[in-house]
Amino acid sequence: MVMRVFLGAALIAGSAAAAPVDVIVRGGTIYNGSNDAPAVGDVEIVGDRIVYVGPARGTVAARVIDAAGSIVAPGFIDPHTHPDSYIRSVDATARQNLPWLAQGVSTVIIGVDGYGTPDVAADAAKLQASGVGTNFAPFVGFGAVRGRVIGQDDRPPTPAELAQEKALVAKAMCEGAYGLSTGLFYAPQSFAATDEVIAVAREAGSRGGMYDTHQRDESSYSIGLMGSVREVIRIGREARMPVHFAHLKALGVDVHGQAPALIAEIEAARRAGIDVTADQYPWNASGSSLDASLVPRWAVDGGYKALIARLDARATLVKIKIEMSENLRRRGGADSLLLTSAEQEWTGRTLAGMAKAWKLAPIDAAIRIIRVPSADGKNAAGTGVASFNMTDRDIDLIMRQPWVVTSSDGSDGHPRQYATFPRLYAEYVRKRKVIDMAAMIRRSTGATADMYRLVERGYLRPGYFADVMVSDPQRYAPRADYVHPREPAAGVDALLVNGVLALKNGAATGARPGRALLRATPPGC
Ligand SMILES: [Zn+2]
Repeated sequence: MVMRVFLGAALIAGSAAAAPVDVIVRGGTIYNGSNDAPAVGDVEIVGDRIVYVGPARGTVAARVIDAAGSIVAPGFIDPHTHPDSYIRSVDATARQNLPWLAQGVSTVIIGVDGYGTPDVAADAAKLQASGVGTNFAPFVGFGAVRGRVIGQDDRPPTPAELAQEKALVAKAMCEGAYGLSTGLFYAPQSFAATDEVIAVAREAGSRGGMYDTHQRDESSYSIGLMGSVREVIRIGREARMPVHFAHLKALGVDVHGQAPALIAEIEAARRAGIDVTADQYPWNASGSSLDASLVPRWAVDGGYKALIARLDARATLVKIKIEMSENLRRRGGADSLLLTSAEQEWTGRTLAGMAKAWKLAPIDAAIRIIRVPSADGKNAAGTGVASFNMTDRDIDLIMRQPWVVTSSDGSDGHPRQYATFPRLYAEYVRKRKVIDMAAMIRRSTGATADMYRLVERGYLRPGYFADVMVSDPQRYAPRADYVHPREPAAGVDALLVNGVLALKNGAATGARPGRALLRATPPGC
């Protein structure tokens, strides 16, 4: 009895520097998410919060993670993701969101490209109740809003419909959305004029939200890359809100080499006081679908069934094929489209390869694929493509801009879903030295949190949430490629999400500690 009391007293005396904590990440090289130089030290965690970052101070912990020789950084924040097949899966294992966890990502931003539901609160509550491995932060999507009010038709809204669109965005902002996302490249969003977009975006901007866009044209499809960049900047100016380019790029042979011009345009807008930022994925192939890549927008007015009807009518078929040929040229030809949808006859082959196998012209092969309907008959099944359409020069130049952060745009069938951050590290940091490790970490953590106004995330600081990744820089590497897009990344030894280990010893723990990160209710709600 005496002994026990003495022992207790000794423990208290020994830990006088600090009270015991739940977790210490010990002895790693700490990149704290800011521009500070890395330093060796400890990160101490109690519950879901970081309580200390700095030199070892002899604190006692229930769990010690040895990080000697490893990098310790905030969990990465991925600002442009399509993780629905994981986080919305009926399978709890899938809901761990392993494609992202294994890269060291602890937070994904969802609802991008205009797809986010306006029912933000209900959706977030449902997701969180189901248990998701990563945190998630939602945008309300212009496509979801316009689709609900107008459907798939190519026409402007009536005044009453515009009021409905605006009300849906206002509701979503009041429920915690970070802003309005758009995908003006995609039908039916492409049917909206700039004025309609500005009117709707204002509802987000006036409530402190940002405008996040897959812009109308990344190439030479409609208004051209530079015309499209100017449209985004105009939306920022007239809706008086921060604007953000998703996956900024110069797509296709007609605009290769235009990165300097688009950067100059954005820099000029920034100097004029418009808050313009961007994200980028480190891949030279974009991920899309055959129909979105090749079929003209007028041909999908009314949806998939209307498209099939137009393919069945000889006059429209001829017109569609002429425009598809032009779009294929713009994308670099049939050799540059790799068919990626899983479990199809054409999976892993190029459009050129399938055209040859079927003894068809490439456009006819594409139409044959598009004609296969999905199970519900509402879309084409299996038309995913990796479209090789960017140059290293443009990619590198965009990557070097301080207002550009890393995103995956991870979607099913493209390896960027599983390998973006380690590929950035392996290819652009280590091999080609386009940016250094400090810049990569900064632009995958703190810079991203600042851009999206994520509260108490993105930095290793006392009081912040304990989203912490531990990775051996010698082993951090991508394993997925275009033909095997679903291989989890290697080299993240531990990942804490809200203080809970989601990865331990490099493997998923089965925990799903992610939370819905909703914005605080803005004024005017
Ligand atoms: Zn997109």
